[in-house]
Amino acid sequence: MSSAISSSSSSARASNDILRSLPSVDELVRASSGKLITESAGESHTANLARSVIAELRGEILEGSVLVATEGELLEVANERLVSAWKSEERKGVRRVINATGVIIHTNLGRAPLSENAREAMADASGYGSLEFAVETGKRGKRGIRAESLLRELIGAEEVLIVNNCAAAAFFVLTAFASGGEVVISRGEMVEIGGDFRVPDVLEQSGATLREIGTTNRTKLADYAKVINANTRVLLRVHPSNYRIVGFTSMPSLSDLAVLAREKGVILYEDIGSGAIVDLSRFGLNDEPLVQASITAGVDVVTFSGDKLLGGPQCGIVAGKAEIIDKLRKHPLYRALRVDKHTYAALEATLEAYRRGTEFDEIPVLRMIAISKEQIRERAERFIGSILAGSADLRLEIVDGVSAIGGGAAPNVVLETALIAVSHARKSASQLELTLRNAATPIITRISDDRVMIDLRTVSEVEEAELIESLSGL
Ligand SMILES: *Cc1c(COP(=O)(O)O)cnc(C)c1O
Repeated sequence: MSSAISSSSSSARASNDILRSLPSVDELVRASSGKLITESAGESHTANLARSVIAELRGEILEGSVLVATEGELLEVANERLVSAWKSEERKGVRRVINATGVIIHTNLGRAPLSENAREAMADASGYGSLEFAVETGKRGKRGIRAESLLRELIGAEEVLIVNNCAAAAFFVLTAFASGGEVVISRGEMVEIGGDFRVPDVLEQSGATLREIGTTNRTKLADYAKVINANTRVLLRVHPSNYRIVGFTSMPSLSDLAVLAREKGVILYEDIGSGAIVDLSRFGLNDEPLVQASITAGVDVVTFSGDKLLGGPQCGIVAGKAEIIDKLRKHPLYRALRVDKHTYAALEATLEAYRRGTEFDEIPVLRMIAISKEQIRERAERFIGSILAGSADLRLEIVDGVSAIGGGAAPNVVLETALIAVSHARKSASQLELTLRNAATPIITRISDDRVMIDLRTVSEVEEAELIESLSGL
């Protein structure tokens, strides 16, 4: 976006003449906005920004698109452009936004928002911390032991290891146990999750050979048994997180697969991705497998994400038999995939909520799944009530809609919600959407039926007040 140049004098001047009125880089940097920007961006970067602003203006003058302008006008326009260039740069960083889309695990907006306790724990850990130090003995300690022990307790696994994300976990397990050998997988599970996680690609990268069996909709235990040979290392089961095959389908149970794997001396590995550790079926999430169920069924190793249904920080959790996890812990790749102190701190705090039994009060993802349409409607009514006092141009109305779990989980789950449909007498839906997105704390909404839709399911009470303030000013 560039600001237009207005003219005050009536006679058009020659380009060369106008060029002489352009401020120098130095003048622009020393002007009031330049000074402010320098405080944040430093001198040389501010000078670079000023240089491109002036070069842009010079181009426009030579093109003849700036016919009349005084020195003062040119400086003013250059100032505006400098400020907007800096603002646009600042906005490209990671900053807080308000997610009013109703998509709970919004991957582009950072997936699971953390609980208050997890945020505090993370901030607390950001100085020195007892990451690999046993305060009790004063000796070197092991990293991750508390998060791991919480997880062992919660999901009933023999051992647990935390890595950077679930993709890293899958790559790690397959590299450590299947490199140079064969991995058996049903055709119905050769899925792509979130665009850049494709099961066949991960397998190839890990150095394993793929043995596809069965058909897209039906695979039998005998199909697995038939292809297992001396080179087979792993039977892989992947939860097709973001899509469903319905109708005439079948696949062997995990426990039957576990028996077969044991008989044949191969590893049964399940990648369940979303990784719920509490039952969410009463909210309609009927086919999100519980991690505990996989462990009980006898899988050797299971992997899942920390920032999907678990509601914690980005990480990948590898859980399973002690023998398997110990090998991973000693594997040279672990050093490259391990997580930092902030992740452990946030994960521990998240898991503690589960152990206390307060997960539905504390963990935002679970709270947002559990909140009913009626509760959202009540909030929406109050919300509209507090805005109506404000702008006369705004029209707000409650309409029925649906929220989504997101994060490539539970694609067919319908979470009924009450949306606030916003329209404006002088702004189109897309102008309104843009205005909200450009708010001091960007507000992310969706457009439907030519109106901006706000789903309070994913908006916290604190953010609700900010939203009211932004809307009231329109
Ligand atoms: C989401 C998902 C992944 C990737 O997890 P990240 O934590 O995003 O790396 C892998 N496998 C399955 C089945 C998933 O659902």
